[in-house]
Amino acid sequence: MTKLLHRRVSAQPEIAVSGDGLILTLASGRKVIDASGGAAVACLGHGNRRVAKAIGEQAQRLGYAHTGFFSSEPAEALAELLVEGRPGGLTRAFFVSSGSEAMEAALKLARQYHLEKGERKRTHFISRRQSYHGSTLGALAASGNAFRRAPYEDILAQNFSRVSACFPYHERQKDESDAAYVERLAQELEAEFQRVGPDRVAAFCAETVVGATAGCVTPTPGYFAAIRAVCDRHGALLILDEIMCGMGRTGTTHAWQQEGVTPDIQAVAKGLGGGYQPIGGILITDKVLWAIENGSGAFVHGHTYQAHPVACAAALEVQRIIRDEDLLANVRTIGAVLESKLRERFGQHPFIGDVRGRGMFWAVEIVADRVDKKPFAPHLQVNDRVKSHALALGLGIYPTGGTVDGSRGDHVLIAPPYIATAADIDPIVDLLERAIDLTVGEVK
Ligand code: PLP
Repeated sequence: MTKLLHRRVSAQPEIAVSGDGLILTLASGRKVIDASGGAAVACLGHGNRRVAKAIGEQAQRLGYAHTGFFSSEPAEALAELLVEGRPGGLTRAFFVSSGSEAMEAALKLARQYHLEKGERKRTHFISRRQSYHGSTLGALAASGNAFRRAPYEDILAQNFSRVSACFPYHERQKDESDAAYVERLAQELEAEFQRVGPDRVAAFCAETVVGATAGCVTPTPGYFAAIRAVCDRHGALLILDEIMCGMGRTGTTHAWQQEGVTPDIQAVAKGLGGGYQPIGGILITDKVLWAIENGSGAFVHGHTYQAHPVACAAALEVQRIIRDEDLLANVRTIGAVLESKLRERFGQHPFIGDVRGRGMFWAVEIVADRVDKKPFAPHLQVNDRVKSHALALGLGIYPTGGTVDGSRGDHVLIAPPYIATAADIDPIVDLLERAIDLTVGEVK
């Protein structure tokens, strides 16, 4: 019997022993195509020799040095690479060990920014429903994921509130234009600022492309520009959570580069280190930095393992490979192949309501009725069944329930590594269709 506390206490997941490209090999000898890199993490696929070598060399040279005393070469080089050319005015990086830690850092930095400016009243954060920002208490308080919040609701901070997500498939009204929908959402955010008190809001947080909670939901054109304008009008910061959708996943290094806006603070993680080491981080604009530099002079936040040399060496090599091999061009090209195959296969599928995403970041939403978008009953656990069938067929995908409102709805996320070829896409789509058909056959 296992001594490890697994995600489900009484379940023993199969043991994965090795990986090569898209293929994971299990202890039983079975092979699985990892079509989602876990949770959109393994952006280079598995078993990359260059990254393994960089990790080994760094561990031998310097495994750890406390950031209270020293910096390290890989941390300096990684920061340099990420803010090279000042993308969107981002000029500094701060590294942590996970996405949740990145969001904690973003929230605390936003609060400290206002304190440095003497705006002590700014204690409130606004985020969106159907969002996920992490499992630690601050990041969870910002999250709109009803299922993950539920057991902890009573111990979550109260200085967080949520507005509607930008979720056109479910929430744009019939006959409502993009412009009218965006205007309605901007007005809702404005009303929330007014309700809270505009001088009490520290920041607005959003995933640029919503990840697992709602399934690769891209923003309606103009949405982020309208949201940015509301934040600017009231002196609140814009925190973009690109932990899942960033670092190339949507075809540009940052997902916001396709939205015509820039964040004040950006959180990154999964694609930063591609899963080779646990690493996340925040990227910070001059505006925020300036307030700290000309105020107290120190970000009052830290972790023992921040800017860990081995984690930074891994992420540095991952990012160098993406650049050297021009993998973002591949994300766009093969992402387009993935999109067209998914649309071809599921565009008219009786139990798929929507196919959505961008780059190598796609989701299909499973519905009981595609005309009225009615989801299957939650007790049927459709997304879980698709996952099990897919795994049995040799396909790894990332399914989630609660797509519509936190309890109803099912979707499956497909996020192949940036190295995927056109030939890799067909078996993924074939096996996914079989897993969905087997599931529907069971529950219908
Ligand atoms: N933010 C987003 C958008 C995520 O998708 C996740 C994880 O799935 C997190 C934050 C939390 O990251 P982690 O699980 O590394 O703490």
